[in-house]
Order: sequence, then C-alpha cells, then structure tokens
Amino acid sequence: MSELTAVAVSVSPADKFREYLTTRGMRLTPERKSVVEEVFSSHEHFDSDQLVDRLSSQKEGKRVSRATVYRTLNEMVEAGLLRKVARSQNRDVYEHDYGYPRHDHLICGKCGSLTEFENAPLAGILEQVATQLGFRVSGHRLEVYGMCAACSRPPRARHRKLDMI
Ligand SMILES: [Zn+2]
Ligand SMILES: [Zn+2]
Repeated sequence: MSELTAVAVSVSPADKFREYLTTRGMRLTPERKSVVEEVFSSHEHFDSDQLVDRLSSQKEGKRVSRATVYRTLNEMVEAGLLRKVARSQNRDVYEHDYGYPRHDHLICGKCGSLTEFENAPLAGILEQVATQLGFRVSGHRLEVYGMCAACSRPPRARHRKLDMI
C-alpha cells in the first residue's frame, strides 16, 4: 500500500487554529499551542489518551492537563484541523484533517489497526449515488470493518519461524 503524501498548506496548523479561535473570541493559549504542536509533529492516527500521555510527560511548563487536551481536541475538530476516524478500545481515534488528502480506512477488529487508502472510482460511485438521490455531497467517511492481513493469517503461518527452531 502506498503512503499518502501530505498536501502543501500555506497557513500553519497553529495559525489556522488561532484564526478559528479568534472568530470564537478565544485565544491560542500556551496550552492549546502545545497540543497543536504535539498533534502536528507527526502524521499518525492517535487516541486522546496517547496524546495525554505524550503531553503529560513533557517538561515542567509545557505540561497540559487531561481536561485541556480533551477540550482542545474538540476545538481542533471544529476548526477543521482534525477529524475523528473511529473508536478503538473505547477511545476516540483522531487524525489530521488539515494538510492531508481525503482518504478512507480499513479497520481491524482484532488489533485495532487502521489502514489508509484512496480510491477515486469509489468517490465517483458515491457522487453518483448522491446525484440519484438529489443529495449534495460535501465529503464522506467510509470505514470498512474486518480483519487485517496480519491478523487473518493462519496461526501456523504466523508461528512458522518458531516452529523451525
Ligand atoms: Zn489486525
Ligand atoms: Zn487516516
């Protein structure tokens, strides 16, 4: 599976967040800035608790409370920076919505892994369905549930290396 490449953006995530907050009469506080920077330091799917762990292990002065992380994540979703992609082990899983191409996910029910894919014909089919129903599409989210290739391999094949010892 090919990796999706990031989309070039002219405004940094922190600046885009600041713009959004300004329209709501809020400020980009140092805590909110820490959250944005940590979230956009790598493109990975993450759940809120993983992010809380990462931010609470930071050095004094850059630590952010759990409540602030949760609140900021919701604000970032509203600002169009993040989107919730799924729930795994009862936690919300997020990913970048800003600066990243539209894509869909295969979600493994066993290990919880998310595999990203882009498929243009699929988007065309959804457009066609919507047109038939007189529906104007602004976006879509497709989640396919099942078992990933690694998890669906028979146990024998998975442990072959051990058997040979
Ligand atoms: Zn799996
Ligand atoms: Zn994704």
